[in-house]
Amino acid sequence: MSVTAPGPRVSGVTRKSPSSSRRWGGRPGSGPGPPRARGRPSGAATRRKGIVTRPGHGIVVGGSWAGMLAAHVLARHLDSVTVVERDALPDEPRHRKGTPQARHGHILWSEGAGIVENLLPGTSEELLAAGARKLRFQTDLVTLTSHGWQHRFPPRQFGLMCTRPLLDWTVRRRILAGGRITLRERTEVLELAGDGRRVTGVGLRDIDSGVRETLEADLVVDASGRGSRVRRWLTGLGLPAVEEDVVDVGMAYASRMYRAPEGATELFPAVNVAADHRERKPGRFGVVYPQEDGQWMVTLSCTRGGQLPTREEDFLAYTDTLRDPLVKDLISQVEPLTPVSASRLGINRRLYPERLAHWPDGLVVLGDSLAVFNPIYGHGMSAAARGAAALDEQLSRPFGPGAAHRAQRAISAAVDDPWIMAASKDIAFVNCRNNATDPRLTGGATARQTFADLVAGRSIRSPEVSDVVTDVMSMTSPQSTLGSSDFMALLHSDGMRPDLAEPPLSQEEMDLVGLRPRSAVGARGAVAR
Ligand SMILES: Cc1cc2nc3c(=O)[nH]c(=O)nc-3n(C[C@H](O)[C@H](O)[C@H](O)COP(=O)(O)OP(=O)(O)OC[C@H]3O[C@@H](n4cnc5c(N)ncnc54)[C@H](O)[C@@H]3O)c2cc1C
Repeated sequence: MSVTAPGPRVSGVTRKSPSSSRRWGGRPGSGPGPPRARGRPSGAATRRKGIVTRPGHGIVVGGSWAGMLAAHVLARHLDSVTVVERDALPDEPRHRKGTPQARHGHILWSEGAGIVENLLPGTSEELLAAGARKLRFQTDLVTLTSHGWQHRFPPRQFGLMCTRPLLDWTVRRRILAGGRITLRERTEVLELAGDGRRVTGVGLRDIDSGVRETLEADLVVDASGRGSRVRRWLTGLGLPAVEEDVVDVGMAYASRMYRAPEGATELFPAVNVAADHRERKPGRFGVVYPQEDGQWMVTLSCTRGGQLPTREEDFLAYTDTLRDPLVKDLISQVEPLTPVSASRLGINRRLYPERLAHWPDGLVVLGDSLAVFNPIYGHGMSAAARGAAALDEQLSRPFGPGAAHRAQRAISAAVDDPWIMAASKDIAFVNCRNNATDPRLTGGATARQTFADLVAGRSIRSPEVSDVVTDVMSMTSPQSTLGSSDFMALLHSDGMRPDLAEPPLSQEEMDLVGLRPRSAVGARGAVAR
Protein backbone atom coordinates (compact mmCIF):
# COMPACT_ATOMS: atom_id res chain seq x y z
CA MET A 1 0.00 0.00 0.00
CA SER A 2 1.43 3.34 -0.91
CA VAL A 3 1.97 5.89 1.80
CA THR A 4 -0.70 8.20 0.46
CA ALA A 5 -2.37 8.67 -2.85
CA PRO A 6 -2.70 10.92 -4.63
CA GLY A 7 -0.49 13.85 -3.82
CA PRO A 8 2.10 13.49 -1.09
CA ARG A 9 5.68 13.08 -2.09
CA VAL A 10 7.98 11.01 0.09
CA SER A 11 11.67 11.64 -0.03
CA GLY A 12 14.60 10.42 1.98
CA VAL A 13 14.66 6.94 3.30
CA THR A 14 12.46 3.95 3.33
CA ARG A 15 8.74 3.47 2.94
CA LYS A 16 6.84 2.81 6.09
CA SER A 17 5.42 -0.53 7.00
CA PRO A 18 1.90 -0.68 5.54
CA SER A 19 0.37 -1.40 8.94
CA SER A 20 0.85 2.10 10.30
CA SER A 21 -0.70 3.89 7.33
CA ARG A 22 -4.51 3.73 7.12
CA ARG A 23 -6.61 5.15 4.35
CA TRP A 24 -10.16 5.20 5.57
CA GLY A 25 -12.85 4.21 3.14
CA GLY A 26 -16.36 5.59 3.03
CA ARG A 27 -18.08 2.46 4.34
CA PRO A 28 -21.82 2.37 3.88
CA GLY A 29 -23.52 3.99 6.82
CA SER A 30 -20.29 5.19 8.33
CA GLY A 31 -21.18 8.86 8.07
CA PRO A 32 -20.82 11.68 5.60
CA GLY A 33 -17.48 12.48 4.08
CA PRO A 34 -16.04 15.89 3.33
CA PRO A 35 -17.42 17.42 0.19
CA ARG A 36 -14.84 17.64 -2.55
CA ALA A 37 -13.91 21.18 -3.52
CA ARG A 38 -15.97 22.03 -6.54
CA GLY A 39 -14.57 23.14 -9.89
CA ARG A 40 -10.98 22.32 -9.02
CA PRO A 41 -8.69 19.98 -10.84
CA SER A 42 -7.51 16.94 -8.95
CA GLY A 43 -3.80 16.16 -8.83
CA ALA A 44 -0.93 18.22 -7.60
CA ALA A 45 -1.03 21.75 -6.26
CA THR A 46 -1.97 24.47 -8.67
CA ARG A 47 1.24 26.27 -9.57
CA ARG A 48 1.77 29.51 -11.45
CA LYS A 49 5.41 30.17 -12.44
CA GLY A 50 6.52 27.74 -9.74
CA ILE A 51 4.40 29.42 -7.07
CA VAL A 52 1.76 27.37 -5.25
CA THR A 53 -1.61 29.11 -5.55
CA ARG A 54 -3.63 26.23 -4.16
CA PRO A 55 -2.02 23.64 -1.92
CA GLY A 56 -2.31 20.08 -3.25
CA HIS A 57 -1.19 17.99 -0.30
CA GLY A 58 -1.65 18.93 3.34
CA ILE A 59 -0.11 17.38 6.44
CA VAL A 60 -1.72 17.73 9.85
CA VAL A 61 0.52 17.09 12.84
CA GLY A 62 -1.61 15.51 15.59
CA GLY A 63 -4.85 13.57 15.17
CA SER A 64 -6.85 14.78 18.16
CA TRP A 65 -9.61 17.37 18.31
CA ALA A 66 -7.94 20.25 16.45
CA GLY A 67 -6.04 17.96 14.10
CA MET A 68 -9.13 16.08 12.95
CA LEU A 69 -11.15 19.26 12.40
CA ALA A 70 -8.21 20.76 10.48
CA ALA A 71 -7.87 17.60 8.37
CA HIS A 72 -11.57 17.75 7.55
CA VAL A 73 -11.21 21.37 6.47
CA LEU A 74 -8.10 20.62 4.36
CA ALA A 75 -9.93 17.73 2.69
CA ARG A 76 -12.58 20.21 1.51
CA HIS A 77 -9.99 22.24 -0.38
CA LEU A 78 -6.89 20.13 -1.07
CA ASP A 79 -6.34 17.02 -3.17
CA SER A 80 -5.02 14.90 -0.35
CA VAL A 81 -4.42 15.10 3.38
CA THR A 82 -2.21 13.11 5.71
CA VAL A 83 -2.70 13.17 9.47
CA VAL A 84 0.43 12.17 11.39
CA GLU A 85 -0.33 10.97 14.92
CA ARG A 86 2.01 9.64 17.57
CA ASP A 87 -0.60 7.30 19.10
CA ALA A 88 -2.59 4.47 17.60
CA LEU A 89 -6.12 5.90 17.40
CA PRO A 90 -8.71 3.53 18.89
CA ASP A 91 -11.60 2.22 16.79
CA GLU A 92 -13.98 2.81 19.71
CA PRO A 93 -14.40 5.44 22.45
CA ARG A 94 -11.30 4.68 24.49
CA HIS A 95 -8.61 6.61 26.34
CA ARG A 96 -5.14 6.92 24.89
CA LYS A 97 -1.78 8.22 26.05
CA GLY A 98 -1.59 11.36 23.90
CA THR A 99 -4.73 12.97 25.37
CA PRO A 100 -4.43 12.68 29.17
CA GLN A 101 -6.90 15.56 29.58
CA ALA A 102 -9.62 13.24 28.26
CA ARG A 103 -9.94 11.72 31.74
CA HIS A 104 -11.31 15.01 33.07
CA GLY A 105 -14.69 16.69 32.68
CA HIS A 106 -15.22 18.42 29.32
CA ILE A 107 -17.99 20.60 27.98
CA LEU A 108 -18.33 21.62 24.34
CA TRP A 109 -19.93 25.06 24.39
CA SER A 110 -22.56 25.96 21.80
CA GLU A 111 -20.00 27.91 19.76
CA GLY A 112 -17.81 24.84 19.24
CA ALA A 113 -20.79 22.51 18.88
CA GLY A 114 -22.25 24.82 16.21
CA ILE A 115 -19.01 24.88 14.20
CA VAL A 116 -18.72 21.09 14.36
CA GLU A 117 -22.34 20.78 13.27
CA ASN A 118 -21.67 23.08 10.29
CA LEU A 119 -18.63 21.05 9.28
CA LEU A 120 -20.15 17.65 10.06
CA PRO A 121 -23.95 17.85 10.01
CA GLY A 122 -25.64 15.36 12.31
CA THR A 123 -22.79 15.08 14.84
CA SER A 124 -24.75 16.53 17.77
CA GLU A 125 -27.66 14.20 17.11
CA GLU A 126 -25.32 11.22 17.01
CA LEU A 127 -23.70 12.27 20.28
CA LEU A 128 -27.07 12.74 21.96
CA ALA A 129 -28.20 9.33 20.71
CA ALA A 130 -25.04 7.86 22.25
CA GLY A 131 -25.92 9.35 25.64
CA ALA A 132 -24.42 12.84 25.59
CA ARG A 133 -26.44 15.48 27.44
CA LYS A 134 -27.38 18.84 25.99
CA LEU A 135 -27.20 21.23 28.93
CA ARG A 136 -29.16 24.43 28.57
CA PHE A 137 -27.61 27.39 30.35
CA GLN A 138 -28.56 28.51 32.98
CA THR A 139 -31.50 26.11 33.36
CA ASP A 140 -29.60 22.83 33.57
CA LEU A 141 -26.71 24.03 35.71
CA VAL A 142 -26.58 24.57 39.45
CA THR A 143 -23.55 26.70 40.07
CA LEU A 144 -22.01 28.42 43.05
CA THR A 145 -20.04 31.24 41.47
CA SER A 146 -17.46 33.35 43.27
CA HIS A 147 -20.33 35.72 44.09
CA GLY A 148 -23.04 33.27 45.16
CA TRP A 149 -25.56 30.82 43.71
CA GLN A 150 -26.61 31.51 40.14
CA HIS A 151 -30.37 31.67 39.53
CA ARG A 152 -31.44 29.07 36.98
CA PHE A 153 -32.73 31.47 34.36
CA PRO A 154 -34.41 30.30 31.12
CA PRO A 155 -32.11 28.71 28.55
CA ARG A 156 -29.87 30.88 26.44
CA GLN A 157 -26.90 28.84 25.21
CA PHE A 158 -26.06 25.17 25.58
CA GLY A 159 -23.15 22.84 26.05
CA LEU A 160 -22.72 19.23 25.01
CA MET A 161 -21.49 16.95 27.77
CA CYS A 162 -20.10 13.46 27.39
CA THR A 163 -16.74 11.78 27.87
CA ARG A 164 -13.92 13.00 25.63
CA PRO A 165 -13.34 9.50 24.24
CA LEU A 166 -16.95 9.44 22.97
CA LEU A 167 -16.71 12.96 21.59
CA ASP A 168 -13.34 12.40 19.90
CA TRP A 169 -14.26 9.02 18.46
CA THR A 170 -17.59 10.26 17.07
CA VAL A 171 -15.99 13.23 15.34
CA ARG A 172 -12.93 11.28 14.17
CA ARG A 173 -14.98 8.43 12.73
CA ARG A 174 -17.22 10.80 10.80
CA ILE A 175 -14.24 12.72 9.44
CA LEU A 176 -12.21 9.70 8.40
CA ALA A 177 -15.22 8.01 6.82
CA GLY A 178 -14.90 10.46 3.92
CA GLY A 179 -12.01 8.36 2.63
CA ARG A 180 -9.80 11.25 1.53
CA ILE A 181 -7.60 11.43 4.59
CA THR A 182 -4.61 9.18 5.12
CA LEU A 183 -3.84 8.45 8.74
CA ARG A 184 -0.26 7.73 9.78
CA GLU A 185 -0.51 6.37 13.30
CA ARG A 186 2.34 5.66 15.69
CA THR A 187 4.34 8.15 13.73
CA GLU A 188 6.00 11.16 15.28
CA VAL A 189 6.81 14.43 13.60
CA LEU A 190 10.33 15.45 14.57
CA GLU A 191 10.85 18.65 12.60
CA LEU A 192 9.66 20.86 9.81
CA ALA A 193 11.25 20.55 6.38
CA GLY A 194 12.08 23.64 4.35
CA ASP A 195 13.54 26.96 5.35
CA GLY A 196 12.51 30.28 6.87
CA ARG A 197 10.70 31.26 3.68
CA ARG A 198 8.71 28.11 3.08
CA VAL A 199 7.82 24.95 4.97
CA THR A 200 7.83 22.09 2.50
CA GLY A 201 6.85 19.16 4.70
CA VAL A 202 7.83 17.39 7.89
CA GLY A 203 10.54 15.04 9.05
CA LEU A 204 8.97 12.09 10.79
CA ARG A 205 9.79 8.80 12.48
CA ASP A 206 7.89 5.54 12.58
CA ILE A 207 7.74 4.78 16.31
CA ASP A 208 7.78 0.98 15.86
CA SER A 209 10.47 0.63 13.22
CA GLY A 210 12.45 3.78 14.01
CA VAL A 211 12.60 4.55 10.28
CA ARG A 212 12.82 8.24 9.47
CA GLU A 213 11.69 10.00 6.34
CA THR A 214 10.61 13.36 4.98
CA LEU A 215 7.03 13.73 3.84
CA GLU A 216 6.48 16.69 1.55
CA ALA A 217 3.45 18.96 1.61
CA ASP A 218 2.26 22.29 0.31
CA LEU A 219 0.65 23.08 3.64
CA VAL A 220 1.51 21.80 7.13
CA VAL A 221 -0.90 22.37 10.04
CA ASP A 222 0.60 22.00 13.49
CA ALA A 223 -2.13 20.65 15.80
CA SER A 224 0.15 18.73 18.12
CA GLY A 225 -1.36 20.20 21.27
CA ARG A 226 0.05 21.84 24.37
CA GLY A 227 3.36 19.99 24.06
CA SER A 228 3.92 21.30 20.52
CA ARG A 229 7.54 21.89 19.57
CA VAL A 230 6.66 24.34 16.82
CA ARG A 231 8.60 27.19 18.45
CA ARG A 232 11.74 25.09 18.44
CA TRP A 233 11.05 23.80 14.95
CA LEU A 234 10.79 27.37 13.67
CA THR A 235 14.05 28.52 15.24
CA GLY A 236 15.56 25.40 13.64
CA LEU A 237 14.56 26.91 10.30
CA GLY A 238 16.46 30.08 11.22
CA LEU A 239 13.48 32.17 12.31
CA PRO A 240 13.42 34.29 15.48
CA ALA A 241 11.63 32.87 18.53
CA VAL A 242 7.85 33.23 18.39
CA GLU A 243 6.64 35.45 21.25
CA GLU A 244 4.81 33.66 24.03
CA ASP A 245 2.65 34.77 26.99
CA VAL A 246 2.16 32.57 30.03
CA VAL A 247 -0.29 33.08 32.90
CA ASP A 248 0.03 30.19 35.28
CA VAL A 249 -2.26 29.89 38.28
CA GLY A 250 -0.96 26.36 38.94
CA MET A 251 -4.27 24.73 38.18
CA ALA A 252 -4.37 20.98 38.86
CA TYR A 253 -7.15 18.42 38.29
CA ALA A 254 -8.29 15.15 39.81
CA SER A 255 -11.21 13.22 38.32
CA ARG A 256 -13.18 10.10 38.99
CA MET A 257 -16.22 8.50 37.37
CA TYR A 258 -19.18 7.51 39.55
CA ARG A 259 -22.34 5.53 38.94
CA ALA A 260 -25.08 8.22 39.01
CA PRO A 261 -28.46 7.51 40.63
CA GLU A 262 -31.03 6.16 38.16
CA GLY A 263 -32.27 8.93 35.84
CA ALA A 264 -29.89 11.56 37.22
CA THR A 265 -27.77 11.93 34.09
CA GLU A 266 -30.89 12.86 32.11
CA LEU A 267 -32.85 14.87 34.66
CA PHE A 268 -30.53 16.23 37.33
CA PRO A 269 -28.57 19.40 36.50
CA ALA A 270 -24.81 19.61 36.18
CA VAL A 271 -23.20 20.99 39.33
CA ASN A 272 -20.36 23.45 39.64
CA VAL A 273 -18.92 24.77 42.91
CA ALA A 274 -16.32 27.43 42.21
CA ALA A 275 -13.74 29.20 44.34
CA ASP A 276 -13.88 32.85 45.30
CA HIS A 277 -10.69 34.69 44.31
CA ARG A 278 -11.52 37.43 46.84
CA GLU A 279 -10.74 35.07 49.72
CA ARG A 280 -7.06 35.47 48.79
CA LYS A 281 -6.27 31.81 49.32
CA PRO A 282 -5.74 28.94 46.88
CA GLY A 283 -8.95 28.34 44.95
CA ARG A 284 -10.76 24.99 45.10
CA PHE A 285 -13.36 23.84 42.61
CA GLY A 286 -15.60 20.81 42.08
CA VAL A 287 -17.96 19.77 39.31
CA VAL A 288 -20.35 16.89 38.74
CA TYR A 289 -21.06 16.40 35.03
CA PRO A 290 -23.62 13.99 33.54
CA GLN A 291 -22.03 11.59 31.04
CA GLU A 292 -23.20 8.75 28.83
CA ASP A 293 -24.02 5.33 30.32
CA GLY A 294 -25.50 6.73 33.52
CA GLN A 295 -22.19 8.01 34.83
CA TRP A 296 -21.14 11.15 36.63
CA MET A 297 -17.76 12.69 35.93
CA VAL A 298 -16.52 14.33 39.12
CA THR A 299 -13.62 16.69 38.59
CA LEU A 300 -11.98 18.43 41.54
CA SER A 301 -9.40 21.10 40.95
CA CYS A 302 -7.37 23.76 42.67
CA THR A 303 -5.05 26.64 42.03
CA ARG A 304 -1.42 26.59 43.24
CA GLY A 305 -1.21 25.53 46.88
CA GLY A 306 -4.68 23.94 46.97
CA GLN A 307 -3.42 20.38 47.67
CA LEU A 308 -5.05 18.33 44.96
CA PRO A 309 -6.40 14.95 46.10
CA THR A 310 -4.53 12.38 44.01
CA ARG A 311 -5.35 9.31 46.15
CA GLU A 312 -8.74 7.62 46.33
CA GLU A 313 -8.88 8.01 50.11
CA ASP A 314 -8.44 11.78 49.84
CA PHE A 315 -10.93 12.41 47.05
CA LEU A 316 -14.12 12.59 49.09
CA ALA A 317 -12.43 14.40 51.98
CA TYR A 318 -11.37 17.15 49.58
CA THR A 319 -15.01 17.88 48.70
CA ASP A 320 -15.42 18.95 52.33
CA THR A 321 -13.09 21.85 51.66
CA LEU A 322 -15.18 23.28 48.81
CA ARG A 323 -17.29 26.35 49.51
CA ASP A 324 -20.46 24.24 49.57
CA PRO A 325 -21.12 20.58 50.42
CA LEU A 326 -23.30 19.85 47.38
CA VAL A 327 -20.60 17.89 45.52
CA LYS A 328 -19.88 15.87 48.64
CA ASP A 329 -23.57 15.23 49.26
CA LEU A 330 -24.01 13.97 45.72
CA ILE A 331 -21.08 11.60 45.56
CA SER A 332 -20.74 10.31 49.10
CA GLN A 333 -23.46 7.68 48.59
CA VAL A 334 -22.72 6.58 45.03
CA GLU A 335 -20.26 4.06 43.72
CA PRO A 336 -16.94 5.17 42.25
CA LEU A 337 -16.22 3.39 38.97
CA THR A 338 -12.62 4.41 38.29
CA PRO A 339 -9.46 5.30 40.16
CA VAL A 340 -8.49 8.97 40.51
CA SER A 341 -6.79 10.52 37.47
CA ALA A 342 -4.75 13.60 38.25
CA SER A 343 -3.00 16.11 36.05
CA ARG A 344 -1.46 19.53 36.17
CA LEU A 345 -2.49 20.90 32.81
CA GLY A 346 -4.12 24.17 33.77
CA ILE A 347 -1.76 26.81 32.44
CA ASN A 348 -2.76 29.66 30.10
CA ARG A 349 -0.22 29.96 27.30
CA ARG A 350 -0.48 31.75 24.00
CA LEU A 351 1.93 31.95 21.08
CA TYR A 352 1.94 34.95 18.76
CA PRO A 353 3.11 33.53 15.41
CA GLU A 354 1.27 36.30 13.61
CA ARG A 355 3.73 38.83 15.08
CA LEU A 356 6.75 37.41 13.27
CA ALA A 357 7.76 39.81 10.51
CA HIS A 358 8.41 36.87 8.19
CA TRP A 359 6.21 33.81 8.53
CA PRO A 360 7.03 30.83 6.33
CA ASP A 361 4.59 29.97 3.60
CA GLY A 362 3.09 26.51 3.97
CA LEU A 363 2.59 26.47 7.75
CA VAL A 364 -0.22 27.27 10.17
CA VAL A 365 -0.62 26.51 13.88
CA LEU A 366 -3.93 25.88 15.62
CA GLY A 367 -5.62 24.31 18.63
CA ASP A 368 -3.68 23.92 21.86
CA SER A 369 -0.42 24.29 19.91
CA LEU A 370 -1.37 27.92 19.46
CA ALA A 371 -3.11 28.70 22.75
CA VAL A 372 -4.14 26.82 25.87
CA PHE A 373 -6.51 28.17 28.47
CA ASN A 374 -7.22 27.23 32.05
CA PRO A 375 -9.68 24.39 31.37
CA ILE A 376 -12.03 25.52 34.10
CA TYR A 377 -13.62 27.88 31.56
CA GLY A 378 -14.16 25.07 29.03
CA HIS A 379 -12.98 26.94 25.95
CA GLY A 380 -10.19 24.87 24.41
CA MET A 381 -12.21 22.76 22.01
CA SER A 382 -14.42 25.65 20.91
CA ALA A 383 -11.37 27.82 20.29
CA ALA A 384 -9.80 25.05 18.22
CA ALA A 385 -13.05 24.67 16.26
CA ARG A 386 -12.99 28.40 15.59
CA GLY A 387 -9.43 28.07 14.33
CA ALA A 388 -10.51 25.31 11.95
CA ALA A 389 -13.42 27.42 10.71
CA ALA A 390 -11.06 30.36 10.12
CA LEU A 391 -8.71 28.09 8.17
CA ASP A 392 -11.65 26.84 6.10
CA GLU A 393 -12.51 30.40 5.20
CA GLN A 394 -8.92 31.25 4.31
CA LEU A 395 -8.53 28.19 2.12
CA SER A 396 -11.52 29.18 0.05
CA ARG A 397 -9.43 32.09 -1.24
CA PRO A 398 -6.34 31.88 -3.49
CA PHE A 399 -3.57 30.53 -1.31
CA GLY A 400 -0.40 31.99 -2.79
CA PRO A 401 2.65 33.52 -1.10
CA GLY A 402 1.76 35.23 2.17
CA ALA A 403 -1.53 33.34 2.48
CA ALA A 404 -0.30 31.17 5.37
CA HIS A 405 0.59 34.30 7.35
CA ARG A 406 -2.82 35.76 6.57
CA ALA A 407 -4.49 32.51 7.64
CA GLN A 408 -2.44 32.46 10.83
CA ARG A 409 -3.58 35.97 11.68
CA ALA A 410 -7.21 34.89 11.25
CA ILE A 411 -6.71 31.77 13.38
CA SER A 412 -4.90 33.75 16.07
CA ALA A 413 -7.67 36.36 16.17
CA ALA A 414 -10.13 33.55 16.89
CA VAL A 415 -8.37 32.68 20.17
CA ASP A 416 -8.18 36.20 21.55
CA ASP A 417 -11.49 36.17 23.44
CA PRO A 418 -10.99 32.86 25.26
CA TRP A 419 -7.41 33.88 26.01
CA ILE A 420 -8.29 37.16 27.66
CA MET A 421 -11.31 35.67 29.47
CA ALA A 422 -9.26 32.93 31.10
CA ALA A 423 -6.03 34.82 31.71
CA SER A 424 -7.70 37.91 33.17
CA LYS A 425 -9.72 35.77 35.59
CA ASP A 426 -6.71 33.76 36.67
CA ILE A 427 -4.53 36.75 37.54
CA ALA A 428 -7.08 37.59 40.26
CA PHE A 429 -6.04 34.46 42.21
CA VAL A 430 -3.21 34.41 44.74
CA ASN A 431 0.01 32.70 43.64
CA CYS A 432 -0.67 33.31 39.95
CA ARG A 433 2.53 33.67 37.91
CA ASN A 434 1.94 36.25 35.26
CA ASN A 435 4.58 36.30 32.53
CA ALA A 436 2.38 37.97 29.95
CA THR A 437 3.22 41.01 27.88
CA ASP A 438 -0.41 41.44 26.80
CA PRO A 439 -1.13 45.01 28.02
CA ARG A 440 -4.61 43.93 29.12
CA LEU A 441 -2.93 41.69 31.69
CA THR A 442 -0.22 44.02 32.89
CA GLY A 443 -1.86 47.39 33.55
CA GLY A 444 -5.17 48.46 35.05
CA ALA A 445 -5.78 45.00 36.49
CA THR A 446 -7.52 46.34 39.63
CA ALA A 447 -10.05 48.40 37.70
CA ARG A 448 -10.75 45.47 35.40
CA GLN A 449 -11.22 43.14 38.34
CA THR A 450 -13.64 45.57 40.01
CA PHE A 451 -15.70 45.59 36.83
CA ALA A 452 -15.53 41.78 36.51
CA ASP A 453 -16.75 41.45 40.11
CA LEU A 454 -19.63 43.81 39.41
CA VAL A 455 -20.65 41.78 36.34
CA ALA A 456 -20.35 38.47 38.22
CA GLY A 457 -22.46 39.75 41.11
CA ARG A 458 -25.21 40.98 38.79
CA SER A 459 -25.22 38.13 36.34
CA ILE A 460 -26.26 35.57 38.96
CA ARG A 461 -29.34 37.64 39.86
CA SER A 462 -30.43 39.36 36.64
CA PRO A 463 -31.73 37.28 33.71
CA GLU A 464 -30.85 40.00 31.21
CA VAL A 465 -27.27 40.39 32.45
CA SER A 466 -26.95 36.62 32.69
CA ASP A 467 -28.01 36.23 29.04
CA VAL A 468 -25.30 38.58 27.83
CA VAL A 469 -22.65 36.98 30.04
CA THR A 470 -23.72 33.49 28.94
CA ASP A 471 -23.40 34.52 25.29
CA VAL A 472 -19.87 35.75 25.97
CA MET A 473 -18.91 32.71 28.05
CA SER A 474 -20.13 30.40 25.32
CA MET A 475 -18.05 32.47 22.86
CA THR A 476 -21.17 33.19 20.81
CA SER A 477 -20.80 36.94 21.45
CA PRO A 478 -17.48 38.78 21.53
CA GLN A 479 -15.96 39.76 24.84
CA SER A 480 -16.26 43.39 23.75
CA THR A 481 -20.05 43.13 24.27
CA LEU A 482 -19.35 43.54 27.98
CA GLY A 483 -17.98 47.02 27.29
CA SER A 484 -20.96 48.19 25.25
CA SER A 485 -23.20 51.02 26.42
CA ASP A 486 -26.23 48.71 26.21
CA PHE A 487 -24.62 46.31 28.61
CA MET A 488 -23.59 49.12 30.98
CA ALA A 489 -27.22 50.23 31.09
CA LEU A 490 -28.34 46.66 31.82
CA LEU A 491 -25.81 46.35 34.62
CA HIS A 492 -27.28 49.30 36.41
CA SER A 493 -30.93 48.54 35.77
CA ASP A 494 -33.34 47.22 38.36
CA GLY A 495 -34.84 43.78 38.36
CA MET A 496 -32.29 41.83 40.34
CA ARG A 497 -33.54 38.64 41.97
CA PRO A 498 -32.75 38.06 45.65
CA ASP A 499 -29.55 36.28 46.69
CA LEU A 500 -29.94 32.51 46.99
CA ALA A 501 -28.87 30.94 50.28
CA GLU A 502 -28.97 27.35 48.97
CA PRO A 503 -28.48 25.53 45.69
CA PRO A 504 -31.56 26.12 43.52
CA LEU A 505 -32.85 22.55 43.23
CA SER A 506 -36.45 21.46 42.88
CA GLN A 507 -37.97 18.86 45.20
CA GLU A 508 -38.14 16.38 42.30
CA GLU A 509 -34.46 16.86 41.57
CA MET A 510 -33.53 16.37 45.21
CA ASP A 511 -35.68 13.25 45.42
CA LEU A 512 -34.00 11.87 42.31
CA VAL A 513 -30.57 11.90 43.96
CA GLY A 514 -31.71 11.41 47.56
CA LEU A 515 -31.02 14.89 48.89
CA ARG A 516 -33.06 16.36 51.74
CA PRO A 517 -33.68 20.10 52.20
CA ARG A 518 -30.84 21.71 54.09
CA SER A 519 -33.17 23.22 56.64
CA ALA A 520 -34.05 19.63 57.63
CA VAL A 521 -30.46 18.48 58.11
CA GLY A 522 -28.47 21.46 59.36
CA ALA A 523 -26.53 24.32 57.85
CA ARG A 524 -23.79 22.40 55.93
CA GLY A 525 -26.33 20.07 54.35
CA ALA A 526 -26.32 16.29 54.18
CA VAL A 527 -27.58 13.47 52.07
CA ALA A 528 -30.12 10.98 53.28
CA ARG A 529 -31.20 7.87 51.43
C1 LIG B 1 -8.25 19.04 32.62
C2 LIG B 1 -8.73 19.62 31.32
C3 LIG B 1 -10.09 19.86 31.12
C4 LIG B 1 -10.52 20.47 29.94
N1 LIG B 1 -11.85 20.76 29.79
C5 LIG B 1 -12.28 21.35 28.66
C6 LIG B 1 -13.65 21.66 28.47
O1 LIG B 1 -14.49 21.46 29.35
N2 LIG B 1 -14.01 22.22 27.29
C7 LIG B 1 -13.13 22.49 26.30
O2 LIG B 1 -13.52 22.99 25.25
N3 LIG B 1 -11.81 22.21 26.45
C8 LIG B 1 -11.38 21.66 27.60
N4 LIG B 1 -10.05 21.35 27.73
C9 LIG B 1 -9.14 21.69 26.64
C10 LIG B 1 -9.15 20.61 25.55
O3 LIG B 1 -8.84 19.36 26.13
C11 LIG B 1 -8.14 20.99 24.47
O4 LIG B 1 -8.32 22.33 24.11
C12 LIG B 1 -8.24 20.13 23.22
O5 LIG B 1 -8.05 18.77 23.48
C13 LIG B 1 -7.19 20.61 22.23
O6 LIG B 1 -7.10 19.75 21.16
P1 LIG B 1 -5.75 19.66 20.31
O7 LIG B 1 -6.07 18.73 19.21
O8 LIG B 1 -5.24 21.02 20.01
O9 LIG B 1 -4.65 19.02 21.29
P2 LIG B 1 -4.62 17.59 21.95
O10 LIG B 1 -6.00 17.11 22.20
O11 LIG B 1 -3.71 17.69 23.12
O12 LIG B 1 -3.98 16.64 20.86
C14 LIG B 1 -2.67 16.71 20.39
C15 LIG B 1 -2.40 15.46 19.56
O13 LIG B 1 -1.14 15.57 18.92
C16 LIG B 1 -0.44 14.34 19.05
N5 LIG B 1 0.99 14.69 18.95
C17 LIG B 1 1.69 15.47 19.80
N6 LIG B 1 2.94 15.64 19.35
C18 LIG B 1 3.03 14.95 18.18
C19 LIG B 1 4.08 14.76 17.25
N7 LIG B 1 5.28 15.34 17.41
N8 LIG B 1 3.85 13.98 16.17
C20 LIG B 1 2.63 13.39 15.99
N9 LIG B 1 1.60 13.55 16.85
C21 LIG B 1 1.79 14.33 17.93
C22 LIG B 1 -0.89 13.81 20.40
O14 LIG B 1 -0.69 12.42 20.52
C23 LIG B 1 -2.36 14.19 20.40
O15 LIG B 1 -3.14 13.22 19.76
C24 LIG B 1 -9.59 20.78 28.92
C25 LIG B 1 -8.24 20.51 29.11
C26 LIG B 1 -7.80 19.96 30.30
C27 LIG B 1 -6.33 19.75 30.49
